[in-house]
Amino acid sequence: MTRVLSVASECAPLVKTGGLADVVGALPAAMAQLGSEMRTLIPGYRSVMKQAKKPREVITFDALFGGPARVVMTKTAGLDLLLLDAPHLFDRAGTPYLDESGADWADNAARFAALSYAAAHIAQNGADGWCPDIVHGHDWQAGLVPEYMHRLADGHPKIPFVFTVHNIAFHGNCAADQLEVLLLDEWRFTAEHFEFWGQISALKAGLTGAQRITTVSQTYAEELMTPEFGMGMDGVLRARRNDLTGIVNGIDLDVWNPATDPEISPYKTPRAKGVNKAALQAEFGLAQSDGPLCVLVSRLTEQKGIDLLIDALPALLGRGGQLALLGSGAAQLEVALHELAAQNDNVAVRIGYDEALAHRMIAGGDAILVPSRFEPCGLTQLYGLRYGTIPLVALTGGLADTVINASPAALAMNAATGVQFSPITAEALSNAFTRLCDLYQAPKTWGILQRNAMKQPVGWETSAKAYGQLYSELTQG
Ligand code: ADP
Repeated sequence: MTRVLSVASECAPLVKTGGLADVVGALPAAMAQLGSEMRTLIPGYRSVMKQAKKPREVITFDALFGGPARVVMTKTAGLDLLLLDAPHLFDRAGTPYLDESGADWADNAARFAALSYAAAHIAQNGADGWCPDIVHGHDWQAGLVPEYMHRLADGHPKIPFVFTVHNIAFHGNCAADQLEVLLLDEWRFTAEHFEFWGQISALKAGLTGAQRITTVSQTYAEELMTPEFGMGMDGVLRARRNDLTGIVNGIDLDVWNPATDPEISPYKTPRAKGVNKAALQAEFGLAQSDGPLCVLVSRLTEQKGIDLLIDALPALLGRGGQLALLGSGAAQLEVALHELAAQNDNVAVRIGYDEALAHRMIAGGDAILVPSRFEPCGLTQLYGLRYGTIPLVALTGGLADTVINASPAALAMNAATGVQFSPITAEALSNAFTRLCDLYQAPKTWGILQRNAMKQPVGWETSAKAYGQLYSELTQG
């Protein structure tokens, strides 16, 4: 049995701002089926400590980046968790990364360095007798783990480190004058290790220090090595090409199951979706319409292509289509979306974060939109497939790998599951809306698409095997 210490800044259902949390929350159960024992180390944010059931102290630090800290073990929400309880870093209102005014916490570098340091401590010394065989870190917040593993083991870490990139856009950089404060070795502050254009980069530390790097789809793995998508790390990744693998994310098939979903009128065939569509239209104040009801559930950022959607929308609305959107994020996008809804009876917008509503939207929509400029994997198109809600997606990253475009050939072979567009422009998205509406107006074809979509394997089975394979290569090696 392989014991894996998973390290991340979010873990569903306890704390989530995006897909990272879903993956970190789902991996332990998926890996348990294959005989790995995974424990997950996350920060003891105020909200997380409140949810922790019977926390038991297993490690204490007299001083950890500015204050006393401890690690507690708990079994909460079915997960074996290790929580870094460091009140001076994590006992705060706000989100994991932002204060109440929406600005990054000024001490984010130290907060996640502390998380990484605690992980390295467990790698070296275990926690209450539990000793991992591998550390698996996620994104920049766990990027410094190999640096601290190195430091705590006098240059000879006992166990390997796997690093998964969920989004290369976030580097976790801070000024070089933090080296001492962050307990980093000055002699390793070089381009080979974690120096990035004169700054300390936690992401680069993870990329250079890991024995193996994974990312969340095969296409994104290729994209990461290009200047267009690599966000400055493409050279680092090209140098590590042989250690880089793409393993696509799965979704929790129990949480996202149209036959049992408590948030909706359950259904097993796409024909029975209608009642959910009518309910969703009523909930959003949309009238019945002849065109497809498109839904979108997302963070509202530049990455997600919301501006492209706004520009391309006339092509959908002109065919009797509708849009129901749920999201929150950049203030100017929120304002633009409110304006759009005020001007169009067939557009409705909810600003906020609402898991239950997300379920009703995925069930009630005819199509789900993911027009991202880049998308490492993407989860909502996978929910859409499972619910027979046709994904209309940009041809990039995981969206390229998980959706099969309704080309004439794919339709003829009964393989098509959605609509893809490329290049990622408003014009191409407009054309995709036209294709979507054409498909929707041909009920027989649309029904085939829906059935194909619902048959796709979007769970964890295949990907868990791929992680299992990677773990055993490292432990046996
Ligand atoms: P990212 O991690 O880049 O935000 P993903 O598609 O990988 O994008 O994952 C986003 C996750 O967050 C999905 O589970 C999605 O349903 C959820 N989500 C995003 N915004 C909202 C929202 N406003 N309300 C409810 N769920 C949301």
